[in-house]
This record gives sequence, structure tokens and C-alpha cells, in this order.
Amino acid sequence: MMAAGHWGPGVKGSCRLGVQMISCLLREVAGRPSLFIFVCWRKSLVSLLFDIDGTLLRAGNAGMKAVHETLVEMFGEVPESNLVVHGRTDHGIMTDVFDLLEKDYQQHRGEFDQLYWDKLPGVMAKSDGFLLPGVAGLLEELSAAPDVALGILTGNARVAADIKLKHFGIERYFSFGGYGDDHSDRNQVAAVAVEAAREELQGSFDADRVWVIGDTVNDVNCARSVGAKVIAVETGGGTKDELTEAAPDFVFEDLRDVESFLFSVRN
Ligand SMILES: [Mg+2]
Repeated sequence: MMAAGHWGPGVKGSCRLGVQMISCLLREVAGRPSLFIFVCWRKSLVSLLFDIDGTLLRAGNAGMKAVHETLVEMFGEVPESNLVVHGRTDHGIMTDVFDLLEKDYQQHRGEFDQLYWDKLPGVMAKSDGFLLPGVAGLLEELSAAPDVALGILTGNARVAADIKLKHFGIERYFSFGGYGDDHSDRNQVAAVAVEAAREELQGSFDADRVWVIGDTVNDVNCARSVGAKVIAVETGGGTKDELTEAAPDFVFEDLRDVESFLFSVRN
């Protein structure tokens, strides 16, 4: 029997086995750069939270068209005022729309939301929406990168977000998110998205490596409200001057430059 505190053969054997395993692993990854990066980075992933409208895609105003169709079906009218919708949440927008109609959104919310979601796929199919430049290639590249995780941070309600992403076949890239039915305040939606990332990634989540990618000043502000870094893109609701004034970490014309995007979020 081995004496207490003795550095016995069993422990040495375990150490040798551990060294052999590490040596084997290093040999295995030496010729495979992506696996090597994964081994080095697996404890700290970059969480990327993408806005949808104006950042990943243009829905051809399908959301508002479906809202109008739903309001006409429910009440026979739509409000005349043009509301600002960029960078806001579905919940906040619909509260204002119902206020203009002098009706209570909460009272009608269940019926309205279901009708709206039922109509949205058909309206999307008839609208001239499109994926924004570079998005398809960027998502494909990011999904293959072992050191990043992809999530959503949007003002769209979860069901509406899924409908829009599925319309363009890009829903499969995202595994967590914060949505416009989580809160009416976009900053609170950002907080939900960060928590969703933390829950999904567990020990690999790194609060210092969270990025928001969005097209409006509201996206920049909600990123800052949760301590995230932010890339603003000029493909949606914000002009270059407006976005620059909001002081994001980077302003990109669009998402075509995959190399610059990856370099920015990895450093
Ligand atoms: Mg947007």
C-alpha cells in the first residue's frame, strides 16, 4: 500500500497519461488551424448579437403592411400618423399605434399578435425584401468560426423575427437572442439578449466580448447600456453622420468585408 503523501506510481502514471494526452492533442491540432484556435479560445467566445431589420435584411416594409392589414381586419381603420419604427420594439410601436386609435394594446394584444403573425409570412412572400450585402457570406463564415457565437437582438417579437429570418433561410445561424416582446424598452431587450448568451454559452461566455451589430443610434445606445461593444452598419435606419455621432466602436458601410469584421470583433 502507498504511504500517505507519497508520490506513488499511480500518480506518476496519471501524470504521464495527462502529458501524453496533451501531446497527442497538440499534435492533432498542429495541422488544423481552426481546431487549434478552438482549443485556445474555447473558454472565451465572442458573442455577436445581430439586429435584424436594416442590418441583416430589408423586409420590404412587410412588417408595417401586415400591421395595417391586421388593424383593418380588427378595427376597419389604421392611424394616419407616420410613426418612427427604426430601432424600436414591436411592443413599443404597437402601444403607440393603439394609442393613436384610442384603443388599449394590452387588451387586444393576444388577438392582434396572432393575426399579425399569421399574415406576416404571406406579406413577406409578396414584398420585395432582400438580404443585405455581405450577410449571407458573413453568416456562413461566422458559423464556421469556432470562437464566435451568434445571437439576435431585435425589436421584432420572437415569432416575427423567426418568420423574417426563415424567409431568407438564415434562422439556423442563431442560437439565442433578445426580442421585442421581452420588453418595450430596447435597452431591456439588450439585457435579455446578453443573459440569453450567458445561459447558452455557460462557461464560455465572456461579458467583455459581447458585440452588438445594428443599423440605428438606438442599437448603439442599447449596446452601451449593457456594456457591449458595437458595430454600426450604414445599411438601414441611421445615416453615417448619425451613427458616427453615437460613437460606436466601428462604422461599416455594409457587412461585405468579412475579414475586417472578424478582425474587429476578435481584437
Ligand atoms: Mg434595425
